[in-house]
Amino acid sequence: MSQDIYVVIEHLQGQVSDISYTMLAGARELSQATGGKVIAVLLGHNAKDLAEDFAADQILYLDHELLAEFTSDAYQKALADLISKDQPRAVLFGNTSIGADVASVLSMRLGLPLVSSCRSFTEEGKFVSQICGGKIMAEGELPSPIALVTMAPGGYQPDQGRSVDSPPVTESTVPALEALRVTLSKYIEPESTDVDISKEPLLIAVGRGIQNKDNIELADALAQAIGGVVCGSRPVIDQGWLSTSRLVGKSGKQVKLKIYFAMGISGAPEHTEAITQSDTIIAVNTDPKAPIFDIAKYGIQMDLFELVEVLTEHLKAKV
Ligand SMILES: Cc1cc2nc3c(=O)[nH]c(=O)nc-3n(C[C@H](O)[C@H](O)[C@H](O)COP(=O)(O)OP(=O)(O)OC[C@H]3O[C@@H](n4cnc5c(N)ncnc54)[C@H](O)[C@@H]3O)c2cc1C
Repeated sequence: MSQDIYVVIEHLQGQVSDISYTMLAGARELSQATGGKVIAVLLGHNAKDLAEDFAADQILYLDHELLAEFTSDAYQKALADLISKDQPRAVLFGNTSIGADVASVLSMRLGLPLVSSCRSFTEEGKFVSQICGGKIMAEGELPSPIALVTMAPGGYQPDQGRSVDSPPVTESTVPALEALRVTLSKYIEPESTDVDISKEPLLIAVGRGIQNKDNIELADALAQAIGGVVCGSRPVIDQGWLSTSRLVGKSGKQVKLKIYFAMGISGAPEHTEAITQSDTIIAVNTDPKAPIFDIAKYGIQMDLFELVEVLTEHLKAKV
């Protein structure tokens, strides 16, 4: 049993995802309470180079050709073996499709408690998790002796988990990975027939508050006046009011932009996790307690229909 905090690094197609750095920052805070080390756990094949900027005390590298690309099956087997052997105090995963998939199965397989949607840790080493669509933050003692944790973005900036010095890399043994039920045969990029919202500097985002498909044209007019592109939250896409390529959030695109103008969006964690790295978030919502106001730089509590047309006309008159 150790007091070390393990961070399972998430990477896809040779790119380490931002959540990995966010977790390293969270692990550092937690390690100060436990007194252990921050250990980055990197699974891959010929992927050691990915480890160059992790703010960790040590990197455990598990190399195997069946770990070249993520599959839940291979990750579970390799990590179950590692956790059982090393017995760290906590293992952090991204609160992402990949992390939630692996952590939930490991929790069952190893009989370990799982804390989900953790945003941050307190100085005393308590977890702070978002529940009820981000409306409530729950604080609690980290279950012992080993806790699995999925971490959502928002509590730490990815840059806090980056370092200029590369920590020492230790190769760790990988258990037999043969007889996997799932292997990757091909990686297929979605066809791009639309603008790539992840590359746009200014987005006008609409949520369920826009009410119906016809009202999307109000957002379009504002986007044209301001030089932006329209995107939406999950209900808007599910209703078919905008195409899937315009979905922002956990199951859509992550965006890093200058301005994110959110209209009629409540600010559920699955949506906001994709926008926290925007320079300026402006939110319009009738509900003063909408969680989107917690991350917005400017919040406007009013009916979006009273604002949009006036704002569009005002902007048009300016240019
Ligand atoms: C596994 C999983 C993945 C998910 N992935 C995504 C994802 O990728 N992206 C995503 O967005 N969601 C995702 N969701 C859904 C997410 O949990 C929320 O349900 C969704 O984001 C809510 O969308 P919304 O804010 O538009 O709607 P609501 O939560 O219904 O909010 C509508 C808001 O509009 C406000 N409003 C209403 N009328 C007006 C008005 N006239 N003027 C101003 N404000 C008004 C209301 O006060 C309210 O706050 C996912 C959920 C799960 C479980």
